[in-house]
Amino acid sequence: MCNSQCLWAMVNNTICDLQCYTDDCKFDGDDCDNYCYPGCTNEMINNVLCDIECNNEECQYDNFMCNCTSGCHSSLLYNDKCDDACNVKSCNYDNDQCKDERPIIRILRICGFVIAAIQLCLIILTIIWYCKMDCYTNDYRIMNVEERGILNLMEINKNIPETVCPVNLINKICAICFEEFKEEKMIRKLKCEHYFHSECIAQLLLNGHSSTCPLCNKSPFK
Ligand SMILES: [Zn+2]
Ligand SMILES: [Zn+2]
Repeated sequence: MCNSQCLWAMVNNTICDLQCYTDDCKFDGDDCDNYCYPGCTNEMINNVLCDIECNNEECQYDNFMCNCTSGCHSSLLYNDKCDDACNVKSCNYDNDQCKDERPIIRILRICGFVIAAIQLCLIILTIIWYCKMDCYTNDYRIMNVEERGILNLMEINKNIPETVCPVNLINKICAICFEEFKEEKMIRKLKCEHYFHSECIAQLLLNGHSSTCPLCNKSPFK
C-alpha cells in the first residue's frame, strides 16, 4: 500500500485511480496522464451530466456542466473529511463524507450537548443543596445548644420578673455581689424563694455560668 486506499499494484495499471492520485503514490504513475483529473474520463467530460469527478478547475468544472455548488472543488469530495463547502444535497453531502454532519444529526448532537449541560447543572445544584442542608443542620444544632444551655433574657423576664425591693429585704445582702439590697435597686425572686439583685441573677443565668439558684441549686423557674 502506498496510502490507506491505494495498493502499489494499482499504480501504473493503465487505469487512473483517484485514490492513488497522491504524492505518496506518485500520482498513480502514468495512469492519469490522459485525464484532466483522476476519475474524470473524456466520456464524462463530454456528456451532458455533471460528474462530480470532473467538477474541478482542471476539468473546467466538467466543461461547465456542474453546479454542485460554488466553492466545492471535486478534490474535496474525496479527501475523507467533511467539507462545509460541499455539505449540501446537490454535492451529495460532500460525496457522503458528511454523514455525521447532516442537519438532523447536527441538531441531535446539539441536543446531546444541551442534555449534558443540564445534567451538569443538576449535579451542581444537588451538591449546593446538600451543602445548604448541612449548614441548616448545623444551625439547628447550635439552636438546640442555646435552648438547652444558656437562658435568654426574655425567658428570665417571663419566669422571674423584676420587682421593686420589698421593705423587709432592705439592708440584707445579695449572695451574688455581697452588697446590700436597696430600695432603688430592682430585685428578682426565684421560685425557690431566694432573692437577688435583678442584674446579678440575670447576668449569672445569661452568661451560662449557672442555670440554677446559687444558694440552693434548684431550678430558678420551678
Ligand atoms: Zn447582687
Ligand atoms: Zn434558691
